[in-house]
Amino acid sequence: MTATTPEPISTPAESTASHLARSEVADLPMYNAGLSSDAVRQRYGVTRISRLASNENPAGASPAVARALVDLVSGIGVYPDAASTELREAIGSRLGLAADRIVVGNGSENLLELLCQAFLSPGDRAVTLIPSFGLHEIYPRMMGATVTMVPVTEALEFDVDAWCAALTAPTKMVLLSNPSNPVGCMVDEAQFRRIIDAAPDDTLLVIDEAYFEYASLAEGFPDALKILHEQHRPWIVLRTFSKAWGLAGLRVGYGIASDNVVVSLLDRVRTPFNVNIAAQRAALAAWSDVEHMNYSVTDTVRQREVMAKQLKAMGLTVAPSAANFLFIDLGRPNGPVAEALLSHGVIIKPWKEAGYERFIRVSIGSASDNAHFIKALTEALGAAA
Ligand SMILES: *Cc1c(COP(=O)(O)O)cnc(C)c1O
Repeated sequence: MTATTPEPISTPAESTASHLARSEVADLPMYNAGLSSDAVRQRYGVTRISRLASNENPAGASPAVARALVDLVSGIGVYPDAASTELREAIGSRLGLAADRIVVGNGSENLLELLCQAFLSPGDRAVTLIPSFGLHEIYPRMMGATVTMVPVTEALEFDVDAWCAALTAPTKMVLLSNPSNPVGCMVDEAQFRRIIDAAPDDTLLVIDEAYFEYASLAEGFPDALKILHEQHRPWIVLRTFSKAWGLAGLRVGYGIASDNVVVSLLDRVRTPFNVNIAAQRAALAAWSDVEHMNYSVTDTVRQREVMAKQLKAMGLTVAPSAANFLFIDLGRPNGPVAEALLSHGVIIKPWKEAGYERFIRVSIGSASDNAHFIKALTEALGAAA
């Protein structure tokens, strides 16, 4: 990997390709994936990097995953099980559900993409929130759907009244992340019920619980599966092995669907071998080590509260978070601060959506990475003041 930004191949004006492309695609915003550690090392000449931009688990995966991957080496000449049978059975069995209600993807982002491909036609409407997880907007728009984005309140909480108002119009799909990424705010049971009751009966509810394991430790976090099981409508809850289970690099996410029809519709649009053999084995091994996951999640939640306190003591506004990151109002444009942090080797995510350019999202890392961030931020804010 090189540190240089790739040359643009050609500008859209001179490219025939951009005229040939579907207009939905040519107009799509880019997902903001951030900088790699190598790129930062080379561009800024720093050796110590604190990666706090992608909500990864600083403890990494269970040691059981390393053992499973070593054992795998002799088996990579064969195709993976296209149905991910063992993994779906393991997930279903812990949740007390049949495996035919479980779908797995090449990350849960793959499941978001499949849901949009299977359910959204041009002109359909999807509702999500802003600030948003980029793919909740990008994938619906890729299919030609319009996306209504409901802002969070001034206090950086879900605006349940605004959600209910938005859901009075015909809606094909709700994309609700609980807790939200990037804010970290969550709806409680009463708020969750109000939103799903407001949704038309023919709306597919997509509840993205990428941070479920962290949020489960937050007081009042609703049992979405239990509540949704009372609903007579299609829904899916998405979870991932990328965050609490420490497998972001291998790409495995799963969905729990209202019924096996939703699963079989997704099966029709997915690439047959969407979850590779290493990902399946690693996810199974990680899933078997609940203790490792619980330990790292508990530690992260503790570190999160320490960091929130430090940031508030610096006079910054910090959104209450039920996840493994904090959304921080710097009270000034985030670009120069993010740049100063990079020069210290600290990678965070400066938010780019209109109206949120004063905010950064910072993942909770190891205690030393968090201290590195606080020190670098103190210097960056002081230097620019
Ligand atoms: C991280 C994240 C995902 C994607 O996770 P993968 O399983 O790695 O694709 C999905 N939704 C939200 C809200 C996330 O923050």
